[in-house]
Parts: sequence; C-alpha cells; structure tokens
Amino acid sequence: MSLIVQKYGGTSIGSTDRIEAVADKIAKFRKQGNDVVVVVSAMSGETNRLVSLAQAIQEHPAPREMDVLLSTGEQVTMALLCMALQKRDCGARSFTGGQVRILTDEDHTRARIREIDDSRIHAELDSGNVVVVAGFQGVDDGGNITTLGRGGSDTTAVALAAALKADECQIYTDVKGVYTVDPRMVEDASLLDTITFEEMLELASLGAKVLQIRSVEFAGKYKVPLRVLSSFEEGEGTLISVEEDSNMEKPAISGIAFARDEAKLTVSGVPDVPGVAYKVIGPVSDAGIEVDVIVQNVSADGTTDITFTVKRSDSERARDILNAQATVLGAADVSVDARIAKVSIVGVGMRSHAGVASKMFKALADEGINIQVITTSEIKISVVVDEKYLELAVRALHSAFDLGDPNYQPKQDKQT
Ligand code: ADP
Ligand code: ASP
Ligand code: MG
Repeated sequence: MSLIVQKYGGTSIGSTDRIEAVADKIAKFRKQGNDVVVVVSAMSGETNRLVSLAQAIQEHPAPREMDVLLSTGEQVTMALLCMALQKRDCGARSFTGGQVRILTDEDHTRARIREIDDSRIHAELDSGNVVVVAGFQGVDDGGNITTLGRGGSDTTAVALAAALKADECQIYTDVKGVYTVDPRMVEDASLLDTITFEEMLELASLGAKVLQIRSVEFAGKYKVPLRVLSSFEEGEGTLISVEEDSNMEKPAISGIAFARDEAKLTVSGVPDVPGVAYKVIGPVSDAGIEVDVIVQNVSADGTTDITFTVKRSDSERARDILNAQATVLGAADVSVDARIAKVSIVGVGMRSHAGVASKMFKALADEGINIQVITTSEIKISVVVDEKYLELAVRALHSAFDLGDPNYQPKQDKQT
C-alpha cells in the first residue's frame, strides 16, 4: 500500500463530466488499497475569469483581495470532486489551504509555503477517506488567505507530497507528460520517459508551463518522486528524476522552451566609463523589476550600448526609469521592443557535447532568423529573436537536434 498525491489541472476537471471521470480514476486507485491525497486546480478558464472580474472594477486591486477572490475557484472543484467520490461510495473530505494549515509568508498573489501541518490529513487518511485539498492557496500568520502564483497547484501538490513523505507525486494534466517541446507548437514532439530535475527547472523557468517552477524547486530540494501524466489517456508519463542515468548516452539537448512574455530595452550612445552597467541596471533592479538577459557592446567612438530584457508587463516602467536616468547617463537614446521572443535549448548533455551552440546558430541562420541577444549557462543556451520568427525558430531547432518522434504519424486527411 502506498501514499500517493495526485494533482488534477484545470482542463482535467473543466466540467462536471470531467470531474466524474477523474472521480472514477481516484476511486479505482483507492479500492486498490492506496492512500490518496488529491490536489485540485480551478476549472479551466475560471482563474482568468476571476482576474477579469477584478479588473473590470480596478486596474490594480489590492493583492489581499485578489487572493480572497482567486482562491474561490479551487474551493468549487474540491467540493464537486468530493461529491463525485461520495457518489461512488468512496469516502472523501475536502479542505481549503487554510483548513489544512498550509502556512505561507504574507506575499499576496505569489506567497511561498513555509510549513504544512500534516496532522489533519493523516487523521482523515487513517479513517479511510480520500483527502481533497484546494491547490494554489494557503494562509499567512495573520489568518489571511494567500495564493502561490499562477500554476501554483503544482506547488501545493509537491509540497504536500514532501510533507507527507508520499511515495509519488503525480501531476495529471492535458498532455501525456513532458515533451521535447510544447506539443501544441510542434506536432512531432517526443514524449520523454525521464528528465532530470535540473533540466526540468530550466525548461520551466524558460517558459515551458507544464510545471510551475517552484514545484520543481521543491521536488528537487525534498527529493519528491515527481511524475507528469495525462488524466485523459493511460500511460506512464514522464518521471522527473533526481539522478542522471550515467549508463545512458545523453543526447546533447533534451528539450526546447520558449517565452513571449519579455521585452527588450536598449540604452544607446552612453559614454563608456566604469560603472555604466551599474547605472543602467541598478535603478531598474531597485524598482523591483527583474532583469533577465543583458548584453553590452562598445563601439569605436568610445560609447556603449546596453541591451537587456524584462517581463513585458514591466517594460514601460523600466523605460520610464531609464528615460529619467538618460541625462545622468549621457545616453543618446532609450528604446523598447516588445515584439521579441526567447527560445532556449536545454540539456545536461551539453556538458559533454562540443559544438552545440554553433549547431543552434547555424540552424537559425539557415532559416534567415537574426539573433538579437544570446545568453548561455552550463546546460542551456537562449537566444532572443523577433517574435514573428518564434515558431519557425522552435521548429528549426527541434529538427536540427533530431528531437522529433520517429513514430509520429501525421493525422490523415479524412477527405481523401
Ligand atoms: P494544467 O491545467 O493541467 O496545470 P497547464 O496548461 O498548466 O495544465 O500545463 C500543461 C500544458 O503545458 C500543456 O497543455 C502544454 O501545452 C504545455 N507545455 C509547454 N511545454 C511543454 C512541454 N515541454 N511538455 C509538455 N507540455 C508542455
Ligand atoms: N487556478 C490557478 C491558475 O489558474 C492555479 C493552478 O491552476 O495551478 O493559475
Ligand atoms: Mg498548470
């Protein structure tokens, strides 16, 4: 008998029919003798709907009230799922984050979990019930409802699995597991049997939204066996593994991620003296804006250009800060380009394969795609390109690194 934490995402429980189908799955699992803790998201689209309701009233609502509002979506699904389980004679009880006592800091809309009280869950499991917990929410020291950032139910599930020392944390979603690239963009993306935490962390932070970044951090830190799998189809899904399989010849690249949510700022014609980078980036960071990729170029006339990227939603604020700094800096111009995208290749195999970067640049050059900025780390290379080339770039790289599924069958056209 094992203790399993299962998380069901928005599409997996997007209608009462889907909730009934998930209840069948859970009840079967329970009948096999397993202890089951289930974490639910809100129905698909519900959290976005709540955000737009808030925005119809106020452009920047108080984060505390946003959390009160956004946490309601998960409260609906946890109750409906319990009803569906009880209808199947499977004992089940639902709990909000606050009822469990998932204790977080006070950072509303992006709170971090500090501590989980597992006593109530254990008591329910001991009396034979399936425990259903609302994902994405917790409570701070003052008893205020907090939420964990978009996609945060993944983190609730992993954190519960860590606290309960579960045998496995299973993230059920609308695709069969983790693929070499988002299968919604590239049809012949390959399903990965395993991927290392390190790689998954990079993919998640570089835009692959299949798992929330914090959930992967948590799983790595507490060594939680984590699996991503489909709630619609049978299959083993993808295991996020702690260990690299040293017997296996690693491909250079395991996956590709992309992000459209950044903007590029360039400060040009700044006299090139010590402290320039600090004077440009310093005030932007001081304003709490996260700076991602940075490049600095010096031209023959002794001036320098500094280009960096920030979240698209922060770009206007960053531009205003730089415009205010322009005279101090002696800058000729400050410009913003929001029509950019970042494409990244990720793989622990990069450590032992030479020529990965040049292969990437050649694949992009062959498609006539101009690279605007490049940044690398030990296991990833990211490039910034014009947004209109995003899909072309991703497809070109997927095929250049032979990531396509050899068994992929294009869908037949029914007309012929
Ligand atoms: P859920 O509602 O179940 O949490 P999400 O929409 O958050 O689901 O995450 C699943 C989605 O992640 C998939 O539908 C897929 O489009 C996207 N995705 C992005 N990159 C990948 C990848 N490398 N592998 C699998 N899915 C990916
Ligand atoms: N419902 C929340 C969201 O849409 C949390 C989640 O689904 O994980 O972001
Ligand atoms: Mg998600």
